[in-house]
Amino acid sequence: MKFATKAVHAGVHPDPATGAIMTPIYQTSTYVQESPGKHKGYEYSRTLNPTRAALQESLAAIENGRFGLCFASGLAATDVVLKLLKSGDEVIASNDLYGGTYRIFTGVYEKYGIKFHFVPMDTPDRVEAMINERTRLIWLESPTNPLLHVIDIKKIMEVAKAKNILTAVDNTFATPYLQNPLDMGADIVVHSVTKYLGGHSDTVMGALVTNNEKLAEQLAYFQNSCGAVPGPQDCFLVLRGIKTLPLRMAQHCKNAKVVAEYLNQHPKIGRVYWPGLKEHPNHEIAKQQMRDFGGMVSFTLKDDCVEAAIEVLERLKLFALAESLGGVESLCGHPASMTHASIPKEEREKTGLKDSLIRLSVGIEDQEDLIADLAQALD
Ligand SMILES: *Cc1c(COP(=O)(O)O)cnc(C)c1O
Repeated sequence: MKFATKAVHAGVHPDPATGAIMTPIYQTSTYVQESPGKHKGYEYSRTLNPTRAALQESLAAIENGRFGLCFASGLAATDVVLKLLKSGDEVIASNDLYGGTYRIFTGVYEKYGIKFHFVPMDTPDRVEAMINERTRLIWLESPTNPLLHVIDIKKIMEVAKAKNILTAVDNTFATPYLQNPLDMGADIVVHSVTKYLGGHSDTVMGALVTNNEKLAEQLAYFQNSCGAVPGPQDCFLVLRGIKTLPLRMAQHCKNAKVVAEYLNQHPKIGRVYWPGLKEHPNHEIAKQQMRDFGGMVSFTLKDDCVEAAIEVLERLKLFALAESLGGVESLCGHPASMTHASIPKEEREKTGLKDSLIRLSVGIEDQEDLIADLAQALD
């Protein structure tokens, strides 16, 4: 099946009891058994719930994977990947990444004796140079948050495979509409489902997808043993959201192009970060690796003044000033004080994340209204 068909149909089967075309919200914690151990595949909803099972199947299908697992948040999904590690293991991660991911790595797992190295992954040699016999996991985002670097996923996966190192790719920004990391050799795809997959800013959720059965078993063991699972209402909302993912993503990408090109010619703008621009340093890789360039656009002002950037954020109206991204409505944010505040300033600056950087999640509204809002805010 092609992507748009899978988005609508995968995992969703008519309800056996009633024929309902939509998977019901199975709001139940437990399931009656005929005799001990004799049941219809469901025992307790932490372990599995039919609404969650439908969503897990849908997520696996759209990522070209065999096994999908849902979690209470993107970070709960990340947490379970880290639980595969043990004290003494080392992780190499892309240096530009979601602030919460940086925080769980350094603030939570470092104290269990796991070491994290953050390196730019624009070329694989920095990654190769960091590998030693303790390297157990390579973690990356592409495009990265918030500077929108595009990493050559296939190349990094090859480096990891040659040394038998586990790989995880956070595909939140691209979504499976734009790229499928499993097809590029990744072992695990990580999602903050909260963002584009849910798509309507009404649910917090995470997911992992893999093709490796043994790995899927280990991850499912942690999912059930640690228990950060989403409830059936949230699973229903995301199942509904995924049906329109291709339509929404197409419009996010179209609108982001118009916004990026507008900002790029604006006299008050310093630098625009969007992989679809020809002058973007990773434009060529983005063209090969992604089917379009995504809905996230970051930029700085020409004078690089933090106060001026904050004024722009306050003046934007249609772009609501808020954390998060990937919903139908446009949002704007200030990474240095919001999504990435948990990364120390000197670490942020090493990666090029300036305090005046503004990040836009371009929604699916009419382009003219979006441009008019930017124009009045920058005026
Ligand atoms: C938001 C986000 C996360 C964390 O997901 P939550 O659902 O907020 O826990 C992880 N990675 C990226 C790229 C994100 O944007």
